[in-house]
Amino acid sequence: MTLTLYNTLTRRKEPFQPIDPKNVRMYVCGPTVYDLAHIGNARPIIVFDVLFRLLRHIYGEKHVTYARNITDVDDKINARAVERFPKLPPTEAIRKLTEETTAQFHKDIAALGVLPPTVEPRATDHIAEMRVLCDALVANGHAYVAEGHVLFAVGSMPDYGKLARRSLEEMEAGARVDVAPYKKGPMDFVLWKPSKPGEPAWPSPAGIATPGRPGWHIECSAMAGKHLGNVFDIHGGGIDLVFPHHENEIAQSRCAHNTPVMANVWMHNGFLQVEGEKMSKSLGNFVTIKEQIEAQPRQGRKAYKGEVVRFAMLRTHYRQPINWTEDGLEETRKTLENWYTDLADVPEGEISQAVLDALSDDLNTPKAIAELHRLRSNKEHGALKASLQFLGFSTNLEELGIISVAPGTGELQIEGFPPSIAVVTVKQLVDARLAARKAKNWAESDRIRDELAAMGIQLKDGKDPQTGEAITTWEVKR
Ligand code: AMP
Ligand code: ZN
Repeated sequence: MTLTLYNTLTRRKEPFQPIDPKNVRMYVCGPTVYDLAHIGNARPIIVFDVLFRLLRHIYGEKHVTYARNITDVDDKINARAVERFPKLPPTEAIRKLTEETTAQFHKDIAALGVLPPTVEPRATDHIAEMRVLCDALVANGHAYVAEGHVLFAVGSMPDYGKLARRSLEEMEAGARVDVAPYKKGPMDFVLWKPSKPGEPAWPSPAGIATPGRPGWHIECSAMAGKHLGNVFDIHGGGIDLVFPHHENEIAQSRCAHNTPVMANVWMHNGFLQVEGEKMSKSLGNFVTIKEQIEAQPRQGRKAYKGEVVRFAMLRTHYRQPINWTEDGLEETRKTLENWYTDLADVPEGEISQAVLDALSDDLNTPKAIAELHRLRSNKEHGALKASLQFLGFSTNLEELGIISVAPGTGELQIEGFPPSIAVVTVKQLVDARLAARKAKNWAESDRIRDELAAMGIQLKDGKDPQTGEAITTWEVKR
């Protein structure tokens, strides 16, 4: 099994060769913690969680280091903190906002079946490393000081624009006219900037006397360098981060450390869209993870458990756009309900090699899911269970929100149903009816159908598309 990954740097799928198979290193840009994360933000988190699981499977759990940062210094954070907590001193308001948002983020993504990364560095814990980078870049002529700022001189780097495949001339020609007067070149970007009163401030690098704060790009260069080294294996994020964020991370890290690359493989997920447009805070077309998965959604939206959201996300290949719809979620929920029902009493088998092969082909999750469907048709239930669990699914019906544990008795019950009806009963009745049908005992089969209908269970008879065998699926009437 060879792992191949699409590399944005070369625009090709390439066999993955770790620098050190005993320590495979991956960095993914994490959230800026000023507001609740939306479903679009969940996409890179889920996609790179699948890659993290695959790398751990191939190289061993102890041989993969995954760093996903928390950006807790940012202009949006400062603005939102003052808005939310106007009575608190700004630094306290910022701390409260970032702590609260980070805690909710952790809760949200845990519900999506995401493993914690190996390290989760916070920008505010790495200011010293950012200053060191600024100093190094000024000392070697790749950056300069102007009016309390440290700026990166893009003209000093011959292949600036390589990741995004943009030439400096084109970018400069397209630069807006209101470029800050202290910039030597219109595309030069901020590594460090002065803080206004009330904003978070730290002693500045490069001999600047007034206190300041880091720019966004330098934060990731500092955290990646500290935890993964000057050159590491994989760097990931959403496609919108290619330019300028990742281009600038590369410029900073390579020029500070004098290396030919910052990371060997650059991976980017496509957008999650709503009616053809990127889901984003600024467009206002977003659904937060919290409202998508909690039982009290806003505006009459239905809620879906985290595992449904995760599966719906993985039905599309990570580089393609996803159109996020309620129909897609509903269909996913039904699929998982049917599968989890089948798997209730099944012992775990081996992870399917075909699933692993699909994932090893640039994380082809739709192909892996097609394989899961095939396992179910073939009644390879043990392999289905193990493969689902490998992909981050509990295979536990309770996690779909349909079955819950009755408070007094501890019995399993179906949502909205008397506690006496357990899913196992439903499954047994469905099986008994199928047996009656096979024996052409129509009276018994109808009797069981009516019994189930009285319990609020609707049956659908069909044929297995591959084997042609009669099958019956069921769902709770809502
Ligand atoms: P942000 O908080 O905007 O920096 O985004 C955090 C992460 O989510 C980045 O990796 C973005 O590329 C990613 N992201 C934001 N919106 C979407 C979207 N609609 N679809 C997919 N990824 C997104
Ligand atoms: Zn970043």
